[in-house]
Amino acid sequence: MKRILILGGGFAGVECCLKLESYFGNNSDIEITMVSEDNFILFTPMLPQVASGTIETRHIVTPIRTLINKTKFYEAKIKHIDPHGKSVTLYGTNENRGMILHYDFLIVALGSKTNFFGMKNVEENSYQMNTINDAIILRNRIIDLLEQAENETDPILRKALLRIVIVGGGFAGVETAGELNDFIADVAEYYPNITETDVKVTLIEASTEILAGFPVKLAGFAKEKLVERGIELILDAGVTSFDGKEVLLQSKSPSNKILLSDSSQQKGHSQLVSLDSIPSRTLVWTAGVTPIDLIKESLFETHKGRIVVNEFLQVPQFPEVFAIGDCSTFDPKLTMKPFPPTAQIAEAHAKIAAKNLKELLNGRSMLKFDYTWKGQSAIIGKRTGIASFFGINVAGFLAFLMWRNLYLSKIRTYDKKFRVWLDWTLELFFKRDISRLKIITKNGNSRTELDEVDDVR
Ligand SMILES: Cc1cc2nc3c(=O)[nH]c(=O)nc-3n(C[C@H](O)[C@H](O)[C@H](O)COP(=O)(O)OP(=O)(O)OC[C@H]3O[C@@H](n4cnc5c(N)ncnc54)[C@H](O)[C@@H]3O)c2cc1C
Repeated sequence: MKRILILGGGFAGVECCLKLESYFGNNSDIEITMVSEDNFILFTPMLPQVASGTIETRHIVTPIRTLINKTKFYEAKIKHIDPHGKSVTLYGTNENRGMILHYDFLIVALGSKTNFFGMKNVEENSYQMNTINDAIILRNRIIDLLEQAENETDPILRKALLRIVIVGGGFAGVETAGELNDFIADVAEYYPNITETDVKVTLIEASTEILAGFPVKLAGFAKEKLVERGIELILDAGVTSFDGKEVLLQSKSPSNKILLSDSSQQKGHSQLVSLDSIPSRTLVWTAGVTPIDLIKESLFETHKGRIVVNEFLQVPQFPEVFAIGDCSTFDPKLTMKPFPPTAQIAEAHAKIAAKNLKELLNGRSMLKFDYTWKGQSAIIGKRTGIASFFGINVAGFLAFLMWRNLYLSKIRTYDKKFRVWLDWTLELFFKRDISRLKIITKNGNSRTELDEVDDVR
């Protein structure tokens, strides 16, 4: 009996698990186990649409148990990986004991978390866009601040409440800015004291362009569309602090000025201005990811916090361990082309790791990882987007439709695909819901550690 243990039920972990099941489904000598903190796979590209209420919360998550057949699943948080003892320790909870799971082969697919670059007050006071909870919390926040601003009589406070700052000009930041801006415009009619000009959504990016990785022309189109829809764009500026009331900025340019584009300027133009603070009560931080602490503090060799792997996705010191997805990186000494942390790459890693594990078990030679970039697309608010596939660039409504079709096809079950499609269709006929649901857990959601552990073999 060989035991394969997969850590993480995200894009990489689930894809790898399903591939392994397809290889070893009928082989009783192979045992597959997966551990993940959540019992579902989250479809992150649609998170901004959950925050804006376009898609219902549960429609972008798929329970892992509905996807697997042979795999044993543990919903648990991983505490420690011991590659020498070939074991993984799971936290205990208030209700059950911790456990130690033993493996012969390990797949580490633990993803990443938001990177605050060490800015503690930004971490404490800002909203994130990484988990389903983040999207629910942000949606509640936006509705709450509209409710507060509607009846606020202090004009300074009111202005700060209605200023939403989003940091990070990548997929997550641009899509979140577009979605929140549309959401506020659509629900404004319920708030008679709030006019369109009272609300300001600001997107801040540290470099001079948004959506790095897209052709410059497409990124330029996205920029123009955002500004046309009333979003203020600040480029070449880094956020250095946020105390919950004021966002502090620092220019990245020697001129000490930032690039500002808003709807008051001529189309496609921006101006150099001096700006070092923005009064706002809501900062959404989407400016980068970093591996979780468990990985950074593990016994594996890491580079910029990610587990270093060889061209076969194996950890060189522990050949029975594969690391895939956002938590891994190729050994910088290898002349491999760099790949960004995306779902596309995570799934490609997963396929190769599963195949290599099969070859390893059969004593055959493994495949080197390589990937031909298929392209990418992003939506920039209502019915517009940009897409670049196999060298063909598309912008506008067609790109928006391409985005929807592509991502709908990527959702794993027909049930969830249909629900998302229905949400999009119903949105054409009905107004948005502004109910703010309080999310309170009975006993909090902390996992406490118990001394006793259950040794599962
Ligand atoms: C808002 C947003 C939009 C995005 N849009 C796109 C897009 O359009 N296209 C694209 O290609 N990519 C996109 N991405 C990036 C994409 O989501 C990631 O690259 C992808 O999720 C990486 O897959 P992964 O399997 O490595 O990690 P994840 O999918 O993050 O999975 C990690 C898994 O590990 C589990 N886990 C973590 N820590 C523990 C622990 N201690 N114990 C137990 N389990 C644990 C998590 O619960 C999770 O199930 C987007 C990301 C975000 C946040």
